[in-house]
Amino acid sequence: MAKVVVIGAGIAGLVASIELLNKNHEVTLIEKNNMVGGLCSGYFLNNTYVDCCLHWLMGTKEGNSINDIWKETGALGEDIKIISLPTLGSYEYQGATITFYRDLDKAEEEWKKISPIDEKAIHKFFNAVRHVGSLMDLVLSKKIKGNIKAIDLIKSLPDSKHIIKSMKQSREEYSKNFISPAIQFAIKNCQTGYNNMFFFFDLYGIFSKGNADIPEGGAFYMTQRMQEKFISLGGKLLLSETVKEILIKDKLAYAVKTENKTFDCDYVISTVDPYYTLNELLKKNYKIKLFNKLKDNIESNPVSSCFNVFLSINEDLSDIEAPTGLNITPIRVGKLKTDFMIVRPYYYDQNHFIINGKTVVSLFVDQNQDDYEYFNSLSKDEYKEETSRIINDMINALISRYPKLKGKIEYLMSIDPIKIGNYTNTSYGSFQSFSFTNKSSFYSYNGKIKDLPNVFLAGQWCRSIGGTPTALLSACSVIKNIK
Ligand SMILES: Cc1cc2nc3c(=O)[nH]c(=O)nc-3n(C[C@H](O)[C@H](O)[C@H](O)COP(=O)(O)OP(=O)(O)OC[C@H]3O[C@@H](n4cnc5c(N)ncnc54)[C@H](O)[C@@H]3O)c2cc1C
Repeated sequence: MAKVVVIGAGIAGLVASIELLNKNHEVTLIEKNNMVGGLCSGYFLNNTYVDCCLHWLMGTKEGNSINDIWKETGALGEDIKIISLPTLGSYEYQGATITFYRDLDKAEEEWKKISPIDEKAIHKFFNAVRHVGSLMDLVLSKKIKGNIKAIDLIKSLPDSKHIIKSMKQSREEYSKNFISPAIQFAIKNCQTGYNNMFFFFDLYGIFSKGNADIPEGGAFYMTQRMQEKFISLGGKLLLSETVKEILIKDKLAYAVKTENKTFDCDYVISTVDPYYTLNELLKKNYKIKLFNKLKDNIESNPVSSCFNVFLSINEDLSDIEAPTGLNITPIRVGKLKTDFMIVRPYYYDQNHFIINGKTVVSLFVDQNQDDYEYFNSLSKDEYKEETSRIINDMINALISRYPKLKGKIEYLMSIDPIKIGNYTNTSYGSFQSFSFTNKSSFYSYNGKIKDLPNVFLAGQWCRSIGGTPTALLSACSVIKNIK
């Protein structure tokens, strides 16, 4: 039995800790904030609950490897209702609405009616979603035996050329396959972040198979269940305790030092951002070439953050598809000038997001490292003024599309790259890892540090794209090194 200190109680830290307890190791989990969850968190503001994460959770379908882990760690369970939205999103452009229905046949038929001239391109698009979705279903259901490379599986799909080509196409480039400006707009904006077109086939395919849905209550309740599981298995959790250093002697970590205490250990797993772990916790004594390379080439694989405004609205919003992508009069958010904003009314989870008839709504705009740098360059007062302006601009964009909401909106809170970075120490306030774009390759990192055999890294940064699935998978992978 080993004594393990896990740094950070986000998804990776919670999964690693619970799985280690299941293997009878002794685990101390240390988190700097006053609650678990990290980037997967929800907050309460005057009795109103806001979910700052879960738009979809991969692994909600029974009988696949990720679902098994969510259940083992208490995140999901027999009594947890899964909400399956009918669409992945609806996109409005110059009077037309393009909807990514879960039912692919229905979506294909509707798109063809909207733009008959695009019939061939629409069919190709939906077939790619179907094929990638079926492949992912097979992979996750563990039905594929042996060690077959992902690219060889993709090559075996019908129309694989089209699918492989999409890895070298941005969504904007792919959108040019269509003539309809509304379809072009929908494809360009169909997914947050900067990943290539293939990633959207992947996400929409998984969604269409019912494996990327939302557990009722979202992030806060899910991570609280994981905390309960951790404690029930005998884990020691320290909240509001910031790790300052991993102490090394004779090329091995022997303890973890926080502001107040020192914790002896046989192993350390840091789930904090790798740059923070290497620079702050390991005092720049170790390097991981891959992460230096990725940061040096950040223009080719940008990171994803957001400007996300949360509102409470006293109106029936059931006529607004959740989520809806709007074409707005351009506004500047950070460095970015954008004509696109996502509106997400949370009416689909009435027990948690409708309080006294008021519905929680989120407004979302993509951000990246350049926006982070922009906000970071402002003085405190400038930052306050600029973020207030952006919040107003985003609310005005909402009212301009839905005038009936005027006078019925209460502002709750917002998050932006600076707030996200400060809350979790994630580089550039990114809530995913480096993107898998048309100009970059997919990367994967095994969590090991050269010359430091008992310290491992886990978390969203360990693989392209990131998100909760990467946090979970990386945690499951590194714990195999703990003997
Ligand atoms: C607005 C938003 C929407 C999102 N939507 C989705 C979605 O729909 N689906 C999805 O899969 N993912 C989504 N994500 C991404 C997902 O939340 C993250 O990728 C994932 O939760 C990352 O988990 P992690 O454990 O790797 O990292 P983190 O959550 O960053 O965990 C690291 C933890 O370490 C703690 N920490 C940092 N420094 C220290 C220190 N010195 N001492 C102690 N503790 C420390 C942090 O506070 C944090 O709790 C979203 C995120 C955001 C913000």
